[in-house]
Amino acid sequence: MSAQPFEYFLNRRRFLTTLLAGSAALALGGPAPFRPARAAASGPFTLPPLPYADAALSPYISAQTIGFHYGKHHQGYVNKLNELVAGTPLADQPLEAVVKASAGKADQTAIFNNAAQVWNHTFYWNSLRPKGGGKPSGALAERIEKSFGDFDRFKAEFAKAATGQFGSGWAWLVKDGDKLIVTKTGNADTPIAHGQQPLLTVDVWEHAYYLDYQNRRADYVAAVLDNLINWEFAAKNLAA
Ligand code: MN
Repeated sequence: MSAQPFEYFLNRRRFLTTLLAGSAALALGGPAPFRPARAAASGPFTLPPLPYADAALSPYISAQTIGFHYGKHHQGYVNKLNELVAGTPLADQPLEAVVKASAGKADQTAIFNNAAQVWNHTFYWNSLRPKGGGKPSGALAERIEKSFGDFDRFKAEFAKAATGQFGSGWAWLVKDGDKLIVTKTGNADTPIAHGQQPLLTVDVWEHAYYLDYQNRRADYVAAVLDNLINWEFAAKNLAA
């Protein structure tokens, strides 16, 4: 077999992928459903699989929102981070270490923003689940009662942080020392850069809700708290 330039394999792979996608659509007897393309990873950091199907959080978060949010935004942060760390010692570090190492460094703002957004989004997908919401139980429920008075006060405080974050950002339940607190961060900022242990998060960037709720961020936050929060994930983070 003769040697082929690298581009040949790249193009051939792209051609085969397109061909396979086309065949799959034909086999299903119709055009493929709308689904933004998910680029293959090329670099040390990869997009972790979504822990459920795109439509699994519907009607509270639509498959279309997930398609763009996970397939385009989250993937975009992964791609950009790979570009930024290529050929630097950060390329060999775990993601969390890259976030912490670049935090607060004026010459590494872009690396921090993209690394933190990769981390935050993975944490967000896991903070949600189909048929979630309701109330936590066991040790986590006790800690929430001890820290906030009762569950409803926690919920009100979390909703206030999520709706009150001016512009893009995140609302979090975190373990800070030995107590649980609600906090919010702007843009890509993340509690792991501040020595806090996140238990769960809700993304309040407009791209998280605009297709489904337009400007009604409070409705999105309420729907997530009531129907999608993954309390088992939060409990696991508390126990870690
Ligand atoms: Mn987002």
